[in-house]
Amino acid sequence: MSKKFSSVLALLALVCLVAGSFLPAAVGQTATSRSAQNAAMVSTADAVLKETSELRELSILRGVKSGAQSRTEIERMIIKNLDSDTTPAEMRATETLLKAFGLAPPEFAYRAFLIKLLTEQVAGYYDPKAQQFYLADWIEVDGQKPVMAHELTHALQDQHFNLKRFEKWPKGDADAELAAHALIEGDATLAMTLYLAKHPLIALAFIKSSQETSTEQFQQAPRALRESLLFPYQEGSAWASQVYKRGGWSMVSDAFKKLPLSTEQILHVDKYFSYEPAVKVAVPNLALALGPGWRRIDYDVNGEWGYYLVLDQFIKNVTESKRAAAGWGGDRFAIYQGRRASDVVLAQLAVWDTPADAKEFYDAYLKRSQRRYPEPDTTFSSSFTDGDARNEWKGPAGRGVMEMRGSRVVILEGIPAKADANRLLKAMWQPRPTTRKS
Ligand SMILES: [Zn+2]
Repeated sequence: MSKKFSSVLALLALVCLVAGSFLPAAVGQTATSRSAQNAAMVSTADAVLKETSELRELSILRGVKSGAQSRTEIERMIIKNLDSDTTPAEMRATETLLKAFGLAPPEFAYRAFLIKLLTEQVAGYYDPKAQQFYLADWIEVDGQKPVMAHELTHALQDQHFNLKRFEKWPKGDADAELAAHALIEGDATLAMTLYLAKHPLIALAFIKSSQETSTEQFQQAPRALRESLLFPYQEGSAWASQVYKRGGWSMVSDAFKKLPLSTEQILHVDKYFSYEPAVKVAVPNLALALGPGWRRIDYDVNGEWGYYLVLDQFIKNVTESKRAAAGWGGDRFAIYQGRRASDVVLAQLAVWDTPADAKEFYDAYLKRSQRRYPEPDTTFSSSFTDGDARNEWKGPAGRGVMEMRGSRVVILEGIPAKADANRLLKAMWQPRPTTRKS
């Protein structure tokens, strides 16, 4: 979903949490064992690079440097990346966003948690700037080989398709960014899967080290964060293998020129093949209408995947939530912050393929809201409207209103007592260009 994960995703372009993490080696590793380990790694990496190049059908244009890193070094890299890719204000906005959608509890500290989670889960990463890859030094060599195959696929992708261009994705385009990451990680995960299929004994060692994984932080992560971190690997590799089945590696390679445009195209490969474009949706800036002290802190796209997460957080029925999020045409949301930390307004406009798809989403979002803001603290009502449906609610978390017109749905949440809900709603409906991306 949206930008809240784009900071994660910018990092995950380089970081691979392949099949969970691995048990740390005995503490207090000596300098000698480190240099011996590095030497062993270099010769292994050369062999794995040659094999990966043949498997993935991408020639080696130049050698790839490799190195082992301790947990402390990997943690330092993660912090450095977070600090260079995101400002503290962006990190706070992301945290507010997670809470505004109800995807993280009020006490959740995003940045601190993210560092702990990634340090636990990262098994290796490829750095396009240095054109070098690193592996976690607590994994033993046979367990490392599949991770190498994954990282070296990134090195080959970089040599042929330039991965640096994915590092600075335009803001406000998180759904397309997540789709691009699903291509990059899905490709590398598929290559690793083929490598494992060729080497049953290595696969056993790999599975064993995966089972010894510490998943403490991962298990504690808010579900939406956990699932979004896995999306590029799980949904991405499912997508890549369908593309591979249809057109072999050359079709996967072509996808770097014809990028998947949305998570919808990742979730439904036919929509990638038909290249169904998303509707570009704009929403007005409501900061002025909300009153003094209000400012817009985020503006982004949920996409089909984001809406699935938002719905299922409260509906808790994967089939139902997936069905409701399907038929997505395009969307845009904005988050506003008032003077107090609890002053948060969420404004969304979602466009669906057909009025029936819109209705399905509308009903599901209402159900999700009734569960998020339970009665009797919050009261729900349906109200008169010029459109097809309107529902409102009022409770300790402020007021909410949602309205459907044809294939479009507008939702406002967290409206403060003083604000004029009808005026805000009207502003959201004011016509502005919604165009099909070509
Ligand atoms: Zn990767």
